[in-house]
Amino acid sequence: MRTVYVNGQYLPEQEASVSVFDRGFLFADGVYEVTSVLGGKLIDFAGHARRLQRSLGELEMRSPVEEDELLEIHRELVRLNEIEDGLVYLQVTRGAPADRDFAYPPEDTEPTIVLFTQSKPGLAESPAAKTGIKVVTIPDARWARRDIKTVQLLYASMGKMMAKKAGVDDAWMVEEGQITEGTSNNAYIVKDGKIITRELSTDILHGITRAAVLRMAQEAQMQVEERGFTPEEAKEADEAFVTSASTFVMPVVEIDGTPLGDGTPGPIAKRLREIYLEESRKVAI
Ligand code: PLP
Repeated sequence: MRTVYVNGQYLPEQEASVSVFDRGFLFADGVYEVTSVLGGKLIDFAGHARRLQRSLGELEMRSPVEEDELLEIHRELVRLNEIEDGLVYLQVTRGAPADRDFAYPPEDTEPTIVLFTQSKPGLAESPAAKTGIKVVTIPDARWARRDIKTVQLLYASMGKMMAKKAGVDDAWMVEEGQITEGTSNNAYIVKDGKIITRELSTDILHGITRAAVLRMAQEAQMQVEERGFTPEEAKEADEAFVTSASTFVMPVVEIDGTPLGDGTPGPIAKRLREIYLEESRKVAI
């Protein structure tokens, strides 16, 4: 039976609960982080903790715990649930005031904090990484503050279903003619050896994996250009890939039915995946 963490307590999952008045439930007034676990250790915990603080700050939400305590809770859940490979999900909401009201509740309302683990044995050896994934492009109909990692994920969920219905793995979202990102990952193309990915702004989530992968690419003397690109340019690219905490670097081999290159994972995506996994495991805590 899985142990989860809710507001200071480690509980069996069946005994854990939050209020029906919780603003996460009523208004999606909450933020989250997902940190992967490889070999029982957390990958880039510091990056996720930093982004959590940023998301909370942008929403003027109080942090329920300090970073060292947050690390302890992550580690304790990994230990209690014997997670070798998998992930830790963390969510903080603005808490549960007495009534439903659009205005934020009083400052002293306790935030809600929930963490749970998901076990995914062999996470880094996913078969999809060998074949690559296929994507379709869809309009980006999300709100305008995608840099805040809120739990308001309905359009991402709808996008994933559009991809499924089209018989592919994921969707890349398009706004004003350019790709923003995948439903739950950052999007990249490679042309003539150059890695191209949209620059940071409020239009996309500032991926923790993105930051690490771009740094490692530059350290490996690869060329990186941060700019938007169109679906047409993407379909003519030599290769493509996505990054996220739970998929690391995942090759993309088809966009809207157009195969990229020879339709198999490209050399740069494969190399970056190897480098990212190797380097991240070394510094995992
Ligand atoms: N973009 C979106 C919309 C996401 O939901 C995610 C991850 O959940 C990412 C990008 C990748 O971010 P990270 O590398 O921090 O997991």
